[in-house]
Amino acid sequence: MTLAEASGPASRLDGLPPLRDVIAAAGLRADRALGQNFLLDTNLLDRIAALVPLAAGDTVYEVGPGPGGLTRALLKRGARVVAVERDRRAVAALAPLVEAAGGQLHLVEGDALAVDARALAGEGAHIAANLPYNIATPLLVGWLLSEPWPPWWRSATLMFQREVAERIVARPGDPAYGRLSVLAAFRTRARILVRLPARAFVPAPKVESAVVQLLPQAPVADVAVARVADLTARAFGQRRKMLRQSLRGYLPAVAAAGIDPTRRAETLGVAEFAAIAAHLEPAGAGLPASEGGC
Ligand code: SAM
Repeated sequence: MTLAEASGPASRLDGLPPLRDVIAAAGLRADRALGQNFLLDTNLLDRIAALVPLAAGDTVYEVGPGPGGLTRALLKRGARVVAVERDRRAVAALAPLVEAAGGQLHLVEGDALAVDARALAGEGAHIAANLPYNIATPLLVGWLLSEPWPPWWRSATLMFQREVAERIVARPGDPAYGRLSVLAAFRTRARILVRLPARAFVPAPKVESAVVQLLPQAPVADVAVARVADLTARAFGQRRKMLRQSLRGYLPAVAAAGIDPTRRAETLGVAEFAAIAAHLEPAGAGLPASEGGC
């Protein structure tokens, strides 16, 4: 028996109109400001949903269900889905899916950057989304900085634009290596599972995409993640500069960690950043406000 047969509303979902019809009926013209590039290929959606390591009775937290393609695929797998959608037109278009899901879909109209995902989805939920690319990085950083750790989410299976996906999984020396790579490696195991051409989406974006899966792990070191976040913002804010310049003011910690201050941030591994951060504690003075992005 599949998960869906055990607990899901699979047969009612099969009676729903095709996604293209949902979009047409709701006048859901893609809004670029909301990062709307829809996935309509049900085989592809089923493949992505199958990547989520679901057990019977698990909840999935989905950001931006749009017309509901991924949502349907997750429900068919027997998941309970909590979905947050900002676009009122999409929320209206999803009403038949909410009905067909028979209590398995909790749809919230709201901004995923502002809602309390943990309170909505509950402990042990999985995150799955074809993310709106304009807010994908701040959402991921928020999930990576979750406290306490292990976090409320058990896995995250997320579509990013390919360039961001490569930054998440990059290693020292890779051109894409940066703050996001260090934060991801500090607390998770992150892998690219699928790469998708732009033509897989409607409308096709200008960039390629990739699905990244992040699985929470014990942190690389017993150091507050906020320290690592601040340190990496500072170090990668001037990534081409030597540490003696970019981490000016923290050179005692760099030296105490046994790191050569003539190295550049882009060559340091996550354990080395953690070692520097560890020597900043428990000074209590704190780092000055961080600069730079991910
Ligand atoms: N999941 C659908 C799919 O795969 O076809 C849609 C994905 S589309 C890339 C991103 C979705 O996120 C859109 O439905 C968009 O309206 C929604 N969205 C954009 N910004 C949002 C926000 N701040 N909070 C919640 N949803 C948002």
